[in-house]
Amino acid sequence: MLDKFREECAVVGVYGHPEAANMVYLGLYALQHRGQESSGIVSSDGKGLISHRQMGLVADIFNEDVIKQMDGSIAIGHNRYSTSGQSHLKNTQPFVVEYAHGPIAISHNGNLVNAEILREELEESGSIFQSTSDTEVIIHLIATSRESSLMGRIVEALSRVRGAYSLLFLTLDRMIAARDPRGFRPLVLGKFKTGKGHSGYVVASETCALDLIEAEYMREVEPGEILSFGPKGMESLKPFPPAPHAKCIFEYIYFSRPDSNLYGRNVYQVRKELGRQLARENPVEADLVTPVPDSGVPAAIGYAQESGLPLEFGLIRNHYVGRTFIEPQQSIRHFGVKIKLNAQREVLRRKRVVVVDDSIVRGTTSRKIIRMLRDAGAKEVHMRISSPPTSSPCYYGIDTPTRSELIASASAVDEIRRFIEADSLAYLSREGMYSFLDGRSDGFCDACFSGNYPIHFDDEGHVRQLHLFEATQQR
Ligand code: AMP
Repeated sequence: MLDKFREECAVVGVYGHPEAANMVYLGLYALQHRGQESSGIVSSDGKGLISHRQMGLVADIFNEDVIKQMDGSIAIGHNRYSTSGQSHLKNTQPFVVEYAHGPIAISHNGNLVNAEILREELEESGSIFQSTSDTEVIIHLIATSRESSLMGRIVEALSRVRGAYSLLFLTLDRMIAARDPRGFRPLVLGKFKTGKGHSGYVVASETCALDLIEAEYMREVEPGEILSFGPKGMESLKPFPPAPHAKCIFEYIYFSRPDSNLYGRNVYQVRKELGRQLARENPVEADLVTPVPDSGVPAAIGYAQESGLPLEFGLIRNHYVGRTFIEPQQSIRHFGVKIKLNAQREVLRRKRVVVVDDSIVRGTTSRKIIRMLRDAGAKEVHMRISSPPTSSPCYYGIDTPTRSELIASASAVDEIRRFIEADSLAYLSREGMYSFLDGRSDGFCDACFSGNYPIHFDDEGHVRQLHLFEATQQR
């Protein structure tokens, strides 16, 4: 049974660079925020694929010796984060397999909604799976295809999967990038500056990866597009019928790094604009605005600018918190949040505080933060959220909990306010969220806020997989 259903990931691929693996490593480093559980790189030296995958953070997994052994001018990589299901090395990407046509590696960001059914079909006809990840289904579809060319096999495989995918494939002499026809997850294309003596390409989840390796942004990989990089250069193919685009709006709200440019806009500027709109929609009499760092910082700046209230850092974040720490036996109030955030008494004492964050998921962190603000002397705490209530789970590659754990799925705003113990709580409206696009919401997926799923529930595989997933979560 597939256990992967919600996971967040980053992909990076480099073609035609003498230090391809090193460039991919740096790209993964820049994209660490998209996945912190495991990482991997696979390179090709033209004779074989060289792979290194491990649990942990990019900086801990790769060192000079490892990278030096990854020869070749083509490489792909992957960062993974999954809270559901098993977090084993066997699920760490890129996957590498050897099939009748040679070795192939794959990196995937997104979730397929019909993977369970395809897997059952493939198993019935003899395929043996090594992982519990939906991505492996794509490999088996490629391996069992009767098409004669690699591109033909990839097109046939992708024509059978439904859902979200931003993909990279690597063979001995080729890199292929593909984005699903709805464009759920981002994928951008860049090239290395020829002035530096090489003219290779890079494909990555976000533009901040391009910045670090000094690649020049060219454009997005378009929804439904397959790009092939080979000895003859780059070729583009659009083999699928066009579908309405469904680009993830939550990438703007929370997930992407603020210094990335996404769907033609700078994420930091968008978040600031959302904060401004939040202030226009939900003003409040207060003494200062303070962000929940880091996620609420750009929106808090926008809120402060629009409202004319001073911006202060009432919460300071420790940026060096690892995954593990020794919790004291004796209870410390709000320990889990306090280890990451500390409230500043000198800023907050006797103040009416507007605290800004990008979203509320379960409400438990927000509640602890508000208690901390009060403990530090805040007189009033008004919470402002720069997106609409997160009421529905994501099935396309953002790790959100099940519906029953999402506080906004069953509670009205005032009930949430009471739960988080705020003096007031207000969210950005759905229309307000699209104000930076002049109100045009077409082309985006906002299922997490609206419950409007672009791949419908009448898709049999989707329904079944949803049930299976909710069942495993409730166990
Ligand atoms: P809570 O109050 O427990 O719902 O936590 C709210 C915090 O979770 C906010 O600071 C959000 O930025 C953050 N958040 C939202 N979505 C995610 C996600 N997919 N993964 C991790 N944190 C998230």
